[in-house]
Amino acid sequence: MVPAPLTPESDERAPTGTRLHGFGWWQYDLRTGEIQWDARARQIFGLPGEGPLTVEQASSVIHPDDRELADAVLSEALSPGSPGRYTVRKRIVRDDGVHWVRTLGHVQYEDGPEGPAPARLVGVVEELEDEESAEGPFQTAIAGSDIILAHCDTHLRYTWIYNPDPHFNAADVIGRRDDELASAEHVAELMALKREVMDRDAGITRQIEIIVAGAPHYYSVHAAPLHGHDGAVIGATTAAADVTERVRAEDLAREASEAKSRLMSMISHELRTPLAGILGHAELLEQGVPEAIPERALEHVGRIRTGVGHMQALIDELLRFSRLQAGREAVSLDTTTAAAVSDEALKVVDGLARSKELGLAVEVEEPMPDLCTDVQKVEQVLVNLLGNAIKYTEEGSVTLRVERAGEVCLFHVVDTGIGIAGDHLDRVFEPFWRAPRASTGTRRGTGLGLAVAREIARLLHGEIEVESRPDEGSRFTLRVPFQPPGG
Ligand code: ADP
Repeated sequence: MVPAPLTPESDERAPTGTRLHGFGWWQYDLRTGEIQWDARARQIFGLPGEGPLTVEQASSVIHPDDRELADAVLSEALSPGSPGRYTVRKRIVRDDGVHWVRTLGHVQYEDGPEGPAPARLVGVVEELEDEESAEGPFQTAIAGSDIILAHCDTHLRYTWIYNPDPHFNAADVIGRRDDELASAEHVAELMALKREVMDRDAGITRQIEIIVAGAPHYYSVHAAPLHGHDGAVIGATTAAADVTERVRAEDLAREASEAKSRLMSMISHELRTPLAGILGHAELLEQGVPEAIPERALEHVGRIRTGVGHMQALIDELLRFSRLQAGREAVSLDTTTAAAVSDEALKVVDGLARSKELGLAVEVEEPMPDLCTDVQKVEQVLVNLLGNAIKYTEEGSVTLRVERAGEVCLFHVVDTGIGIAGDHLDRVFEPFWRAPRASTGTRRGTGLGLAVAREIARLLHGEIEVESRPDEGSRFTLRVPFQPPGG
């Protein structure tokens, strides 16, 4: 396979990514001895001008003390049985002084009379800050990753490719289009992407599925047009990362989560009906239907009712949680004021605070814009945060402080309670998680309240954050935009 010739304009064909990242690309044809460089590589080597260079010209700029090393690395890469890798740090002598560079490349083989023989070396070159610096722009952006860099002409034929896979043979690819490659199927999307960036003359990033050796692979591909000297589009460049493992892991996690939500919702519904029955019968007994029962028996009926009440609350929370997770919770917008919604929430928990002799106050900064949101949901979250604050505080006070931060309304629920250890701060939002000391005394809980509250906050384009110190108290902050985005 004869590679598509690189014309002098090929300077401009450097993948946009390489130009952006500050590294240059080169291609050394072992048969003609010519080296094609892009503009950045010439700049790094201090060899401006047009057209290909000879190996002699290239090696003339290498510092005399480093030439032997560079030659040795090259012979090693080309020797039979070598993995064909070429990586060397060397000094370049330019008009503006001596500079450290790193050259990385790999050998591409072509079939010859005695089997595959080295045909060319392709690679990149990057300037290092000094001899010690490990990270150049290429090293940081590409090397060590699985990113494949390539560019093609306007007929979608590959003209250059950098693929870190040691088994990859660029000769199978250069000069061909994706749909002419034996190794890949299902490439219409990839080809359409390249065509689209050339037509639109703009970069696009897209996730694409390609069948490689019979198995589906997902690639995150950034494609951009390449321009010639006159500014015309002469091809496309792509940087592709194989994200198959990540996509599969996400799919599995989503399926597992959906199955869990379905199960939770099914169990909750199954439990709800009989519980409602138990509660109804207990209430009838309390009302003396079918006939009055003794006082002592009534006490037991009362306990049944309280127990069932707790179970119903838990099931309702479970159902709400699975609805939220499945994205089945609707938002209904209304306009209110932060002060009004705060007062409503405070009323709900007032009795609780009194029973523990805790101070309960609300402080609202004024003036404050109107709040256009799902009012019931904001109230529900505030009741939850205030309820927790009261539950986990034995003395002192609970304060709801409302502030404005630009377009966002901040509701701070501040308590003087038991607080939360630093390494538990993230965990409090996990479903079913409760701090080891949360269950002491009579503090009942499911560990679902904050998980539900955070889901609701996110549904309202907001967030809940927490700051806390053990034995000093906690501050939970609900952030909600005054206006829904786009509203
Ligand atoms: P629950 O209160 O039902 O256990 P939540 O999801 O509301 O569940 O809270 C999870 C955990 O976070 C609680 O078990 C408790 O350990 C901790 N927590 C929540 N709010 C506070 C608070 N204001 N002060 C101290 N700990 C809290």
